[in-house]
Amino acid sequence: MARVYNFSAGPAVLPEEVLQEAADEMMDYRGCGLSVMEMSHRSKTFDDIINTAKQDLKDLMNIPDDYEILFVQGGASQQFAAVPMNLMRNRVADYIVTGQWAKKAYQEGQIYGDAYKIASSEDKTFSYIPDCSDLPIHDNADYVYICENNTIYGTKFWKLPNTKGKILVSDMSSCFLSQPVDVTNYGLIIAGAQKNIGPAGVVVVIIRKDLIRDDVLPCTPTMLKYKTHADNNSLYNTPPAYGIYICGKVFKWLKDMGGLTVMQERNEKKAKLLYDYLDKSKMFRGTVVKEDRSIMNVPFVTDSDELNKKFIAEAAQNGLVQLSGHRTVGGMRASIYNAMPYAGVEKLVKFMSDFEKENA
Ligand SMILES: *Cc1c(COP(=O)(O)O)cnc(C)c1O
Repeated sequence: MARVYNFSAGPAVLPEEVLQEAADEMMDYRGCGLSVMEMSHRSKTFDDIINTAKQDLKDLMNIPDDYEILFVQGGASQQFAAVPMNLMRNRVADYIVTGQWAKKAYQEGQIYGDAYKIASSEDKTFSYIPDCSDLPIHDNADYVYICENNTIYGTKFWKLPNTKGKILVSDMSSCFLSQPVDVTNYGLIIAGAQKNIGPAGVVVVIIRKDLIRDDVLPCTPTMLKYKTHADNNSLYNTPPAYGIYICGKVFKWLKDMGGLTVMQERNEKKAKLLYDYLDKSKMFRGTVVKEDRSIMNVPFVTDSDELNKKFIAEAAQNGLVQLSGHRTVGGMRASIYNAMPYAGVEKLVKFMSDFEKENA
């Protein structure tokens, strides 16, 4: 078995234990004589899979009873429309634009109502998180929207914005389950699976129950109404069943690892190793302000495009793959999600340090 260290931002590395278990259950899921891929989503067996996944997520995140967990499709991008369609009762929403994903959500919001950009870090290529302690939140805003971890630029909200009592909607796709969060701070949480929890095709939505309502914007498709999915335990239509099954396995794995406090410690330790090296390197440097650094996505550069290319190519030859930065920003990016072992980051840092010596 020749597994590489996969630093992709998504679809991303999954825990080997989870992949192995899925392989073991591929031909015959626990005596059913078939694979979860071939199974009716109306079966008792699948019901157990989805309910166990929900309960494990609830336990992991301490999700209170007045929140619902939904598994939906369409990627996190579909949620950029679903959020305004379901929540824009006054047709006003405030967006904090800290990267491409927040910008896309903001642009989508404009289709449905008055979406306001109340803060942005675009002036410095999204390399920081703006001060959000006293923003011009609209009195009639239906929600304030953030992308909590900016996958492309490698920044993270370490302090949530002061929403002045308005509902906070957070796209947590790339930091979901990387550390404990207080769910009660949010009205709605979005997490596309392929970053930190499972295969592409599933999106987890955690929504406060009073926000699941019938009076959505006119013309909202049935499939985009949160109520449709909430009323049917995410089984209104055929769900992304295999993806939910794998997410469930990752939730179990996280519980076995000791939960989110332990994951945070592990993630901080990995990130520190890489950032400490970047801070002392004479060749490589991080691209975002220190206080706002993500512990999931770590972008870095050298001063030469040629050297960046050489580094990415040689790293790949050494089993360190998918280290290119996002196509819109270039340079390098190491995504070090939950499933990336410490040894992977150690190997990366060792390789960077050798590369620096050889190319100095
Ligand atoms: C990847 C990503 C998205 C887009 O996810 P899709 O599933 O491709 O639609 C949205 N937000 C964040 C923070 C992401 O990292």
